[in-house]
Amino acid sequence: MSAFWVNLSHDDKWVGGPVTSKAYAGKLRLKWTLKNDGLGIFRFRVVTVSDGVDYSNGEKGRNPRFKGNNLSSWYSVYKDREVITEIDLPAAGGVTYRVDGTLGETTVSSETFETRRILYYQPMTMVGVDEPDIQEVEDHFWGAGDGFYVKLQREKAGQTLTRKNYLDNWFLDDFAKNVKEKYQLAERSPVGFAIAWVTYLTYKEDRDVEMSKRKVGGSKLHSWDQANSRLTITTTYLWHGIEPDDDAKKDWFTNLTVTLYGDAGTKTIAMSSNDPSRVDLGDEAEFDDGGHRKVVVDLRDHGAGEVASFAFKLDYKGVAGWTAGSTKEKQRYLAVATRSRWQARSAAAMKKTLLHELGHMVGMVPNGAGRMPDKPPNYYSGQGHLGPHCAKDMTYGSDGWAGTPGCIMFGADEVGGNARAGTFCADCKLALRKLDLSTLGVEE
Ligand SMILES: [Zn+2]
Ligand SMILES: [Zn+2]
Repeated sequence: MSAFWVNLSHDDKWVGGPVTSKAYAGKLRLKWTLKNDGLGIFRFRVVTVSDGVDYSNGEKGRNPRFKGNNLSSWYSVYKDREVITEIDLPAAGGVTYRVDGTLGETTVSSETFETRRILYYQPMTMVGVDEPDIQEVEDHFWGAGDGFYVKLQREKAGQTLTRKNYLDNWFLDDFAKNVKEKYQLAERSPVGFAIAWVTYLTYKEDRDVEMSKRKVGGSKLHSWDQANSRLTITTTYLWHGIEPDDDAKKDWFTNLTVTLYGDAGTKTIAMSSNDPSRVDLGDEAEFDDGGHRKVVVDLRDHGAGEVASFAFKLDYKGVAGWTAGSTKEKQRYLAVATRSRWQARSAAAMKKTLLHELGHMVGMVPNGAGRMPDKPPNYYSGQGHLGPHCAKDMTYGSDGWAGTPGCIMFGADEVGGNARAGTFCADCKLALRKLDLSTLGVEE
């Protein structure tokens, strides 16, 4: 059975790799040679042989590619003639068709062929970052058992991107420019995109911790070492262990004011980032390459005598959070973080992220507008996550999300320790089969 690449244009430029001939790309063109055997009507029709996809009327109304074009018609035969029939098949993958032509008592059938989709990706890595094997993800999109038939065709591998230890607002800055410079799939427009393997996707955020006057005994926020005059303050994760240049200048420290109430008087000591010599990391790293949540302050010679209570306010820079991946559909690239929480991410975690981001790249989760398929029942947008996602098996309330995400298109990789499913839910599977992949990254 032949493969018919339904998301391409009818153009020689696609020939190569899995696309063996223009005849199997874009428009289906059939040539009929008709012999006039008395005036007659020649009819043809596209016959769905197996695994049809039922597009709703709404879908067919929104996007002509869901309906297909010229799926049946007829010609009068008044002389020997040759006719060319041009057919646009519906957008779905994994549907088997043939075309029947009937003249009088005679019906002839074309070969049987199956619809497939193909997208071209260029892998890129930051200098020093390894590209994981993504065969499993490619297989997933091909969809053994699910019949997505989305072929992810790898091309122009080997380009590297400038190393950055983390990408801060990565989609807006030099990184986007860098990806564009290295992108070599312009000729695959509108069905080509880049997959970039990067370091950390995170950024620093200004934070503070404040304690009003309190006895020195210790609390969740502090401890006090009277003998050595050392104050330890508990913070969220400090901006440390990600960018060595930042670490060298104690970039995590912004300002600290401590007021000590002692038997020799009340003293206020202020420190700023101009002189961070008296502050330091106050705990052991929690992970392979960092992860600190305590600041220790050397307050020797504070002059307040025996300290009974004190107050403080620390301004610092913390880690805003970890992003596993992000997709810029319109600019046709996505990035997957290879590091998170001061350690390398596992191959399994990166594959799940890639699957999710590729989902976004192809238009998941569709919102039921424009050229998109109908909105799956668990579609949501926002609610703490960026972009359209699927809340299969999840509930959202005043405490945020609860449950075990039943779909790879849920907007976070875990909720309360419950890991996201490794595949699309049944509704999203159907949407993925239905998608019009004739172009990427165009919003309705
Ligand atoms: Zn997402
Ligand atoms: Zn889903």
